[in-house]
Amino acid sequence: MAKRLGRLRRLPEIEYFFPKTLKEVLSLLKKYNRQARVFAGGTDLLPKMKRREVVPKYLIDLSGIPNLKFIKYEKDKGLRIGAATTLSEILESSLVKRRYPILTEAISQMASTQIRNIGTIAGNLCNAVPSADSAPPLIVLKGQLKIVGRGKGRTVLVEDFFKGPDRTVLDSNELVSEIQMPPSIAGARGTYLKHTLRREMDLAIVGVAVCLVPDSKKEICKEIKIALGAVAPIPMRAKKAEEVLRGKQLNDDLIESAAKMASEESKPIDDIRGSAEYRMEIVRSLTKRAIKQSLEKV
Ligand SMILES: Cc1cc2nc3c(=O)[nH]c(=O)nc-3n(C[C@H](O)[C@H](O)[C@H](O)COP(=O)(O)OP(=O)(O)OC[C@H]3O[C@@H](n4cnc5c(N)ncnc54)[C@H](O)[C@@H]3O)c2cc1C
Repeated sequence: MAKRLGRLRRLPEIEYFFPKTLKEVLSLLKKYNRQARVFAGGTDLLPKMKRREVVPKYLIDLSGIPNLKFIKYEKDKGLRIGAATTLSEILESSLVKRRYPILTEAISQMASTQIRNIGTIAGNLCNAVPSADSAPPLIVLKGQLKIVGRGKGRTVLVEDFFKGPDRTVLDSNELVSEIQMPPSIAGARGTYLKHTLRREMDLAIVGVAVCLVPDSKKEICKEIKIALGAVAPIPMRAKKAEEVLRGKQLNDDLIESAAKMASEESKPIDDIRGSAEYRMEIVRSLTKRAIKQSLEKV
């Protein structure tokens, strides 16, 4: 069963830093290490602090660092989004909408305008809950995270970033500086579908992202990636379901088999928002719909 959320209390005393450069952030992280937390929009972090789930002594705000606020596209390198870019800035980007519409689709289903105006995509990933809405679309887009703070830094696929609920590959003196996506593939179409109990402002009970590359006649599935959210300890690829379709002639029976396979691959638990059995049924139905809707997109 889901753990009971603790009572919200006044924030304990903390020291708050508002650095202007990434270098300053890294030296603060090195100095205070496990006692410090990076703070982006605070939409996940502050409620956790009020519930005493995390009790940092120092907060290091990223929102004043101009070098972490950007959306850039290069034809041969693809898309880069700075870690302090807000969800609203990504949602409003015509570049993202044109080249990576599945990301726009997912963000438009997240939270409210007010939360999106301060919350970041990096914060959504680093918070590492299985229901993070940005994770499935970034996984099917082969997104990577640039991580700095140790040596020369490193890049990690979004797919390999999560270690479990609330856990990622990040060390305490590291942070994500940007999100990267390879150049958009000609002919690729994607869909993100999210099932919630309430229509607005609710976390996913199930999230499904599909990115599909059909042939010119839309008969053969040349390539496909399927990712699932909220149905395992971490956002996951449905690799066996992808195999059902990859390189095959597309038809309703095959799509149904792939959707069934995705449901069998998922590992949901019973919690207050839905039973495992219910979630598996939703995975089947959303995967089928997401594949069909992707095919219908021009
Ligand atoms: C009312 C409400 C509705 C919401 N609805 C949704 C929803 O529909 N879908 C959804 O997925 N989420 C939802 N959320 C959760 C939250 O808004 C998002 O996860 C948001 O994207 C978090 O971003 P942030 O910048 O506020 O992160 P913060 O709260 O600042 O940080 C979250 C965690 O990530 C760490 N962190 C942040 N940035 C970095 C970085 N660059 N490098 C390393 N660590 C970092 C922080 O230290 C912290 O541990 C909702 C929250 C609220 C309050």
